[in-house]
Amino acid sequence: MPTDDAQQFASDNYSGICPEAWAAMEAANRGHAPAYGEDVWTARAADGFRALFETPCQVFFAFNGTAANSLALASLCQSYHSVICADSAHVETDECGAPEFFSNGSKLLTARTTSGKLTPEAIRALATNRSDIHFPKPRVVTITQPTETGQVYTLDELRAISATCRELALSLHMDGARFANACASLGCSPAEMTWQAGIDVLCFGGTKNGMHAGEAVLFFDPDFAEDFGFRCKQAGQLASKMRFLAAPWVGMLESGAWLANARHGNACAARLAQAVAGLPGIELMFPVEANAIFLRMPPDRMEALRARGWRFYTFIGGGARFMFAWDADPARVDALARDLEAVALDRAA
Ligand SMILES: *Cc1c(COP(=O)(O)O)cnc(C)c1O
Repeated sequence: MPTDDAQQFASDNYSGICPEAWAAMEAANRGHAPAYGEDVWTARAADGFRALFETPCQVFFAFNGTAANSLALASLCQSYHSVICADSAHVETDECGAPEFFSNGSKLLTARTTSGKLTPEAIRALATNRSDIHFPKPRVVTITQPTETGQVYTLDELRAISATCRELALSLHMDGARFANACASLGCSPAEMTWQAGIDVLCFGGTKNGMHAGEAVLFFDPDFAEDFGFRCKQAGQLASKMRFLAAPWVGMLESGAWLANARHGNACAARLAQAVAGLPGIELMFPVEANAIFLRMPPDRMEALRARGWRFYTFIGGGARFMFAWDADPARVDALARDLEAVALDRAA
């Protein structure tokens, strides 16, 4: 039976802060620094993003993903516009209406999907369904990379979506709460997956990547960034001690931990997927392409797994979800695999 401090894989934000982020925060904690982002750490983090993305993008820092997504979307549309997303998108299902709230009412238009991926066809159907004055005008598309169920859009899929967006005069936002895991999965550069593929704005998640908190909002088109600082301040997202939101990014970007952490999480997901392949009554609900695994299994098997001390959520699609963070211990992953095997075979016996 695991003890209370044994690792659980219910969420990737059960994890703590990775050493690289922690060390940078400690370094930033020596002495005083100007407030509200006027400090050297904030400048260095923003420069780090520009170097990593190989482009002079505009960079902002928010406390969490809900705020980053909502404010980014609000900057791309007016209140009478609408935002196209997948039905399982975090902005639709897990942000308590914040995208609508911060945009003063821009409506989310959802496409039914199984993988959480939007397609050019689904976007076109929603964008062209209505053009009359009585319906909010489609103006933005938001995609999650990787999706909430751990699927990764390929570069070709991203390019096809952005071509459709350009044709229909829609701007394109990427919710990258696990952006690093997608980069690790595709083995491509951050530039290739964003502005080179036609993404206008990216929310790059730091929390699930190993930081204490914080998401970066990157604008690849400076026009959209106009007044964004005011929007952040009004929404309560301007940190006075900004250096503590910025410094961990310096640690993550300059050390390469952003990518190494993601690679590790992805590898642990692949490790569990391999270990449970073929177990009776347990099946993968989605291909494992990032750091998530969703297992379909009978409810009594889930109870048996919980009785062995494992925690997991079932809120997406009814399956057991396991997420692997930067510090996932392979020995604990193997322990989970053994317990899954035990509950599966007990059923089969
Ligand atoms: C975790 C997550 C977010 C951010 O959530 P917060 O709790 O607001 O930080 C955004 N999008 C996706 C897909 C996520 O998984």
